[in-house]
Amino acid sequence: MSDRKGRASARDEGRRPGDGRAFLGMPAFPEAAREAVGDATLRATLRHATHTIRDKRARAVAELDDWAALREAGRRIKDETLRHLDTHLLRLEESVTAAGGTVHWAADAAEANRIVTGLVRATGETEVVKVKSMATQEIGLNEHLEAEGIAAYETDLAELIVQLGEDRPSHILVPAIHRNRGEIRDIFREKMGSWGRPAPEGLSDAPAELAEAARLHLREKFLRAKVGISGANFMVAETGTLVVVESEGNGRMCLTLPETLISVVGVEKVVPTWRDLEVFLQTLPRSSTAERMNPYTSMWTGTADGDGPGTFHLVLLDNGRTDALADEVGRQALRCIRCSACLNVCPVYERAGGHAYGSVYPGPIGAILTPQLRGTASEVDASLPYASSLCGACYEVCPVAIDIPEVLVHLRERVAEEGGKGHRLERAAIKASTWVLDHPGVLAAGERLASATRKALPRRLPGPGARQWTDHRDLPELPAEPFRDWWKKNRT
Ligand code: SF4
Repeated sequence: MSDRKGRASARDEGRRPGDGRAFLGMPAFPEAAREAVGDATLRATLRHATHTIRDKRARAVAELDDWAALREAGRRIKDETLRHLDTHLLRLEESVTAAGGTVHWAADAAEANRIVTGLVRATGETEVVKVKSMATQEIGLNEHLEAEGIAAYETDLAELIVQLGEDRPSHILVPAIHRNRGEIRDIFREKMGSWGRPAPEGLSDAPAELAEAARLHLREKFLRAKVGISGANFMVAETGTLVVVESEGNGRMCLTLPETLISVVGVEKVVPTWRDLEVFLQTLPRSSTAERMNPYTSMWTGTADGDGPGTFHLVLLDNGRTDALADEVGRQALRCIRCSACLNVCPVYERAGGHAYGSVYPGPIGAILTPQLRGTASEVDASLPYASSLCGACYEVCPVAIDIPEVLVHLRERVAEEGGKGHRLERAAIKASTWVLDHPGVLAAGERLASATRKALPRRLPGPGARQWTDHRDLPELPAEPFRDWWKKNRT
């Protein structure tokens, strides 16, 4: 394994890799990012991948004259749905139940894991196949199932690489974006055999050979599995239809071959009607994979005799979403359709990589979603709203117009209000400045004193926070006389 993997393993000692909970206990963003930025191979891999995807996306979006209108429609539909989320969810439950499915409500990760484990146990099976699902990574489902003696096999190619490599995902769309072809070949050669069918003899790092090795390895799992677990990109309330979009066909296999299908989906994924869905089926593929339409769009409504799984369970997951919904500024993060366009244009993500965000949701969307879902009590979650230069590129590309910089600033405010020593000092400094600005006589005296003593003033500020700030920035030159004195002499 590479140095990078070695360092990550040492840092993660004591945690189990490969799923959402493996992120627990990560260092705060600046520390994790410093390590990633020092890895030249990782930086080159990320730069190449993100620039390739972002350029393709820009061309795909430019093909549509009505992109701005679609973006606005997406924003509006999501906002209106979120405003009446309770109504739409109840309607969804009614429709799914009428179509032969069973709906379960999970307030948090523990409840969702308990429900899914119980459902798998009830089938008598000890293994499941999974379609790539952020929600199940968020709740650490794989780890929970493993502890209960149930093996969960990821079937998305990138997720398979992550799982076999005992690694963590680092991108929403391309979870193994931090791995190059040589690393993937080594992982397949070393690990496939202990999970099932081994990699073919003499496997090279040619993309076609790697894809074929994964196909052969996964095929036996698809044909054997009796239980499938998925997420969903959308849920249509009016008919109770779930939608999964993907590019590899593994989703279609997981959603149709098993006898039992369990879908774990965040409550914000509901859309009221098929008319609403139409908008997102245009914006999502162009924004994510730069395709006019995605290769596989699987839709299912409850169950049907002799066609697909005979048993269908939908687990509706809250896990912090209603808290986010209660925040008037922060709730726009729930519009996200997980296209990952914001990651691919982010200068911070491009250099720091996805692991530094300490969550299954990396990049700009992770920086605003994770602190809302998990709160800002931990060091890593409190550091996330600062993991941005506020350049605004994420907002420009977002197909549902989430104003990520606005939410970042809002969350920084929250962190400062709830914060520890550093933030208490910051608050005290702001309070003192407010008092001085409220007293013009004191301000004028201070300005004159600063001008008179400017030659003796230090070029670096004292104190830990202030020193770090001036290590990398020049303090502005003070003028020989304050502006108010100059104005009095020259303009009055
Ligand atoms: S925030 Fe916007 S750009 Fe980023 S993943 Fe979500 S929908 Fe895509």
